[in-house]
Amino acid sequence: MAHFINVILPIPLERQFTYRITSEEEQVLRPGMRVSVPFGKSKIYTGLVHSVHQTAPEVYEAKDIDLILDHEPIVTLQQLKHWQWIAEYYMSTLGEVVRSALPSAFLLESETLVLRNTETEVNEQELKDEEFLVYEALLHQAVLKVHEVAAIIGRKNVLPILNRLLDKNIIQLKEEVFEQYKPKLVSYIRLGDGYTSDESLELLLKSLTKAPKQSQVVLALFQLVGTTKKPISVSDLITTSNSSKAVIKALVDKEILIEYFIRTDRVSYHGTGDSTNIKDLNEYQITALNAIQQSFKDKKATLLKGVTSSGKTEVYVKLIESCISEGKQVLYLLPEIALTTQLISRLQDYFGEKIAVYHSKYNVHERIEVWNNVLNEKPKAQIVIGARSSLFLPYKNLGLLIVDEEHESSFKQFDPSPRYHARDAAIVLANLHEANILLGSATPSIESYYNVQIGKYGYAEINRRFGNVLMPDMELVDIKEAQRKRRMKGHFSERLMEEIQETLDAGEQVILFQNRRGYAPILECLTCGHTPQCPNCDVSLTYHQFRKQLRCHYCGHHAALPESCAACGGPDLDTKGFGTQQIEEEVKKLFPNVKVGRMDLDTTRGKHAYEKIITSFEQQELDVLIGTQMLTKGLDFRNVSLVGVMQADTLLNFPDYRAHERSFQLLTQVSGRAGRTKKRGKVIIQSYNPYHQILKQVTTGDYNEMYREQLYEREQYKYPPVNRIIKITFKHKNYNVLNEAADWFAGALKNNFGGVVLGPEYPPVSRIRNQYLKHVLVKISKSDSLTKNKRNIKRIEKSFNAISMFRSVRVIYNVDHI
Ligand code: ADP
Ligand code: ZN
Repeated sequence: MAHFINVILPIPLERQFTYRITSEEEQVLRPGMRVSVPFGKSKIYTGLVHSVHQTAPEVYEAKDIDLILDHEPIVTLQQLKHWQWIAEYYMSTLGEVVRSALPSAFLLESETLVLRNTETEVNEQELKDEEFLVYEALLHQAVLKVHEVAAIIGRKNVLPILNRLLDKNIIQLKEEVFEQYKPKLVSYIRLGDGYTSDESLELLLKSLTKAPKQSQVVLALFQLVGTTKKPISVSDLITTSNSSKAVIKALVDKEILIEYFIRTDRVSYHGTGDSTNIKDLNEYQITALNAIQQSFKDKKATLLKGVTSSGKTEVYVKLIESCISEGKQVLYLLPEIALTTQLISRLQDYFGEKIAVYHSKYNVHERIEVWNNVLNEKPKAQIVIGARSSLFLPYKNLGLLIVDEEHESSFKQFDPSPRYHARDAAIVLANLHEANILLGSATPSIESYYNVQIGKYGYAEINRRFGNVLMPDMELVDIKEAQRKRRMKGHFSERLMEEIQETLDAGEQVILFQNRRGYAPILECLTCGHTPQCPNCDVSLTYHQFRKQLRCHYCGHHAALPESCAACGGPDLDTKGFGTQQIEEEVKKLFPNVKVGRMDLDTTRGKHAYEKIITSFEQQELDVLIGTQMLTKGLDFRNVSLVGVMQADTLLNFPDYRAHERSFQLLTQVSGRAGRTKKRGKVIIQSYNPYHQILKQVTTGDYNEMYREQLYEREQYKYPPVNRIIKITFKHKNYNVLNEAADWFAGALKNNFGGVVLGPEYPPVSRIRNQYLKHVLVKISKSDSLTKNKRNIKRIEKSFNAISMFRSVRVIYNVDHI
């Protein structure tokens, strides 16, 4: 009997590929194991076995596999099911999900690779369509395999195109054998076998009198051996003996010392891990915990709405404790791991080594280590804390999922495909494992609160801050009025300045919040009004004071700050708009002796930059911290009693149906940083429009009023949560082709489609990296079948792709776009 396997290849094609296997291989192979398989003429891929069966493919002759790469599945059946759901729901392919889900080292092979030649200045206009697609893909991905190139441009023989790109020096080919995962080896030192007795040691030390450094090392080692039973690492020995690697090497060469290795895990943490540190809950927390546990019994996903500093984290801790005591695994999802040093060390105090952190920014080795620990249900990874990619780990025995700050939009992956929402994918994952899932937030998303209202989710709330600290006192300041009366200094109203002074006098700290969006400073000529634009994108360049540069935030284009206006030659250039830098300077001028720090994209680039800023603010080396959105997320500072919002208006006016919901969330969260301990905090919100209903709702903490109003608008305009939306983006470098393509597609949708179709429309920035963009928005009523509609859209795409002129237009789906 012939045997076959279906293999998922990590490429953006809908279908799986069937390969033939021998009956010996059939004995071994199971879904979730990796195989390397030939593909096309000469290439080799790593693929994931999806199924083992006996049905030969109908239209092609199945090839043999090359190699079986695993002894055991590295991916579980539940993962495969989960990934299939993600692929279908988010209109992506299983191959794309696999590529996103597996650490890249799992997919590497010895293979021809295509790389971009970064030395060459590329004129994109001169590239043919297909050449451009390859080039563009390489802007997003450092290397491409030849067959991925074939998939991208939709034809088999890509060598002529690659040859042309090679001729133009745009790409390089590379035959490379990738480094596979190697556990980290730590080297240790012991005395050579001949030197263990006291006499021989004495003789040895005598013989070393002419080499004082070496004898120092031997003595230090002797001391260390006396004080500890643990193996002595080279680095410990260097520190204790105050010597160097070279000295130790010399001794090793003489065989006086022996070097040996022990495998250690790379990912290790400190934290004492003592569950007796876990705090007793107060009555409000207990009530919430009981409500959550009841709702878990009813098998419902549950929302915990607790005001900032109400002690939600301590409630999570209780749930985690009880879940791990049953021997099950816990996943704690967070929006952005970089901001969570505080939280991680807090949890390590309770759970110590049981915690593993997983994040796409971790290096390949670290990620594989966590992957294997989770797969083998090691106690060291019983609790995984991670950003959205930690959803893809091979859990065997998941008992609890926590989605903290569930309202955060960064849970939605924007690029590349699959464009999934981690919160929603987490709910599906919880169902697959029959695990409990808790969503937590002080400002729940409208969707989640809606799901509570319709009875789909369970609910618990905490309406008081821990320790009965009052919610901060909020004050709105009308800066339009203040400007008219000339009562502003720079961007600071008198009220804000008074409060800052008072806070500083009391030895307390201040946080100033400046929204990132729309507030990048730009350069303007005072003579003719000209503002420098990006040559590749449809935006103004922003002014970076620190590097004296103009930069594009979309494509990275940069230029030196001009001396005079490029349009009229006028010498007077002014910076408009105000970013965090301007505020920092103003603070320094207004409060000369104050220590100011700034937390934004510019100051937090380095790997540990966040931690440094947060720590120095925590340790009160800084009096004032100025920051963007980054400041809002779950930070717990003890001595901050004033939060100032420099200007609330751009948030409110952002052209997006979620702008009001987001403003409410953001302002409430920043305000929540004030007065978290004993004293009541103060918040000042400056605005041109202090009578805006959202500002009123923020200052009175009236979430329900906000929810009612927003839900009414969503119903009126057919937006989520009452409807579903799919955003379709079209992308092409030629303006006319793009327009025709988008019109064709939208027309076909309108003819074939029950729901509402809006557009095509240009987005606010309608050209990025020389690519024109257009969007179509599809709204589908909740009562209508989403699956049927998606199938319809895919059918239209097929006809679309059959039109040769449109083939090079990229079509991007974003289901539940936020
Ligand atoms: P949230 O996550 O709701 O913003 P946190 O869990 O960070 O709130 O709690 C706010 C502060 O109150 C933290 O410093 C926390 O240590 C403290 N806290 C919360 N619950 C308790 C408790 N039951 N006992 C002692 N301290 C608590
Ligand atoms: Zn640009």
